[in-house]
Amino acid sequence: MSGDVREASAKACANIALAKYWGKSDVKRNVPAVPSISMTLDLLVTETRVRFDPELSADLVRLDGRRASAGEAERVVTMLNRVRREARLRSKATVASHNRFPTAAGLASSASGFAALAAAASAAAGLRLSNRKLSALARASSASAARSIFGGFVELPAGQRGDDDLAARQIAPANHWNLRFVVALTEPGKKKVGSTEGMERSRQTSPYYASWLDQAPKWSRKIKRAIKDRELDVLGAAMEQSTLAFHCCAITSDPPIFYWAPATLAALATVRGLRQRGVSAWATMDAGPHVKALCHAADAPRVRQALDKTSGVTRTWVTKPGPGIEVQR
Ligand code: ADP
Repeated sequence: MSGDVREASAKACANIALAKYWGKSDVKRNVPAVPSISMTLDLLVTETRVRFDPELSADLVRLDGRRASAGEAERVVTMLNRVRREARLRSKATVASHNRFPTAAGLASSASGFAALAAAASAAAGLRLSNRKLSALARASSASAARSIFGGFVELPAGQRGDDDLAARQIAPANHWNLRFVVALTEPGKKKVGSTEGMERSRQTSPYYASWLDQAPKWSRKIKRAIKDRELDVLGAAMEQSTLAFHCCAITSDPPIFYWAPATLAALATVRGLRQRGVSAWATMDAGPHVKALCHAADAPRVRQALDKTSGVTRTWVTKPGPGIEVQR
């Protein structure tokens, strides 16, 4: 049966949202309730290998060299099942994936993880999917993964209940704008409340959720235009508002969700201080305590130095606009 073994691998980069994603209009199909825009990052890479083997009696999932937990494996198997249905394939698979950065810590490992898995699994199963289809497939597992299929600057529109085909699209390629995200790592460890749970709690209990849904498209439009016009100050101001508004929903949920650590506030103050000294640097945080500062490439060493000196910041990386998915059959 060795002739029926089919394998492929894929490499995907994580992305950081500039217009933030928070809230679903269809939890089962994983459809976002607001439009989001991101920059794909060259340095935060996931590599995944998928091997369908008719001799296997169960799917085997390894993550970062260890056996995946039941919860992690379940999300992977759900994706494998979608691919098997589409390819009319019955074989079980081994999946080996490596995140070249911390997993589940608010650095978007689910984005690069599910983008790489969607691409590797569909290629291994013999499907020749367009990037659009691949993005819709990845989105069903993780909305931010839909954006990681593409390089550079990417948008994912909001969708309605029942929307199966919602996919991301590229706004501009990686070489459109020489920006940097300086990623400042604060507290180590996994986030305390997963994004899906946090979003649902916000939807059900935050008094500010309705105004978030109302305002988010406005910031998204502003950010899209600022990317096209290469206006960092316009982009940065809208990104910070979008960030603070979604964290406001999390903080005012019941029970409240604080993704921030003391070092998060210290790093925000550092970024504001840089601006007062004339450096165009702008901060964002995802569902975790780390701060990512957006700036021009020429300012990145200064922004990094300032964040390195900030109390509670343990490590920094400088990342630039990265490529879309790469597949090897
Ligand atoms: P993050 O901020 O890192 O995206 P999330 O809690 O949103 O954190 O997602 C992390 C989850 O995504 C993990 O617990 C795991 O289930 C899944 N995940 C992360 N990396 C991979 C990967 N390389 N392959 C498959 N699943 C992954």
